Amino acid sequence: MQDTQFARCAVRAMVTRSSACAALSIVLLVQSVGCAARGRPFAGVVEEPGQAPDERILIIGESVEKRPLRLHLFGEPPYRTFIFAAIHGDERSAVSLGGALVDHLRTYPHSRHGAGVALMPVVNPDGVLRNNRLNANGVDLNRNFPASNWTRLPRSLRHGPEPASEPETRAVIRAMRELLPERVISIHSIHGGRECNNFDGPAGQLAQLMARHNRYSVTSHIGYPTPGSFGSWAGRDQNISSITLELPRDIGPEECWKSNGPALLAVIAADAAREPRLAE
Ligand SMILES: [Zn+2]
Repeated sequence: MQDTQFARCAVRAMVTRSSACAALSIVLLVQSVGCAARGRPFAGVVEEPGQAPDERILIIGESVEKRPLRLHLFGEPPYRTFIFAAIHGDERSAVSLGGALVDHLRTYPHSRHGAGVALMPVVNPDGVLRNNRLNANGVDLNRNFPASNWTRLPRSLRHGPEPASEPETRAVIRAMRELLPERVISIHSIHGGRECNNFDGPAGQLAQLMARHNRYSVTSHIGYPTPGSFGSWAGRDQNISSITLELPRDIGPEECWKSNGPALLAVIAADAAREPRLAE
């Protein structure tokens, strides 16, 4: 239940003042409490003050080394677009783009055109601190999702001892279950001129939309197997539009934002306008 709906329920209950309407008042109050208990996403989650009037910051989990995993919510639900970055801790351009998008949405709230946006700029804070792809348990989080193609490696725990074994993976899964987004962009970076808009699930048009801004290629195959990846779990298994945005590994922050900020904002704006139609 949204704050505004809750306020409406409460006001409805309060204005019913006469004793003749007392019973009705109680009924409405019970209804409003019931609505709040079952409808509000992320109930009971610790919240930090947002740095913009339309921002909420939720701590939706902790890393292996107990660093907070923050989810930023801009605007009101529904949050049809969910963007996360830095699930691999050594992908600096992904870290910078996720942070730049948070800053931009704070500074230019109109740029989301009224659409609710959910953003998790750093999924793997322990890895970012060490400039390491893996989390503090030595697990590649983008091989740890409970996808049908998840595999345990024979002599390594690099994919995790079991699917969703890692707290960072579980935080992303929780965000997905509470937000129920229609489309997700996972921001990564890659070496060797292989930057691309890689899509899983019904996200071909979404990838094309992004390509018009960042000029990267559009592909449904990254070129190597990715068992247990987010794209496998959300895109292929659940048919949720999923983009793995692969940035150039060595691109600087300013150039990165210049070429990719508009691509991300176009996705958000397309959600608000519902045009161009993204569903396939
Ligand atoms: Zn990556």
